[in-house]
Amino acid sequence: MANLPGRGKVIVGHYGLAAAVKAREPMVPLWLLMLATVWLDVIFIPFLAAGIEWIEPVPHAAHYGGLIIHADYTHSLVGAALLSIALAVPVARAWGRRGGIVVGLVALSHWMLDLVVHRNDLPLLPGNVGDLPKLGFALWAKPDMAIGLEILIFAAGIYAYWQAASKVALAAGVSRYLAVRSAFKAFFFGALIIILDLTGLAG
Ligand SMILES: [Zn+2]
Repeated sequence: MANLPGRGKVIVGHYGLAAAVKAREPMVPLWLLMLATVWLDVIFIPFLAAGIEWIEPVPHAAHYGGLIIHADYTHSLVGAALLSIALAVPVARAWGRRGGIVVGLVALSHWMLDLVVHRNDLPLLPGNVGDLPKLGFALWAKPDMAIGLEILIFAAGIYAYWQAASKVALAAGVSRYLAVRSAFKAFFFGALIIILDLTGLAG
């Protein structure tokens, strides 16, 4: 995997979590949970374009995870909490209080999962005020383990989603075909993300 062009980070770990939460919270649409899992990265894009946040390649590191991400605002713990609340409030209006809380927690979970893989580049306060130590367990330094973990979370999420969808189908007395079809769709999009990432076609 080291010879692939560009540098990437797989996001199916985040995606798998969306599928797992959907299994338990069927009222919140899957697309909204998927948006919530990558919400911090969505906001990161304009910050990146404006040069406020940036990505630094790690010399001699593997293609996957060979990055130090200077996202001192969107990926600071306090910044992530504020962005999660900013997403949760309109969701609560449309899908109810519980939906808002679930979506807010899923958005914040992005930071928790990033904490496992990032290379000590996650600050606590926006702009890394006070120069406090940055956090990250740097699993990206062991790409095989990091990819394995992502695929594991992804597979567990799709499995939970498929099981929950089958249960709903059984309870409603309809064929399981619909459940299998929607689980397959979720699997397909996740697998597509893995392929795009590992081939370097998408960041
Ligand atoms: Zn991120």
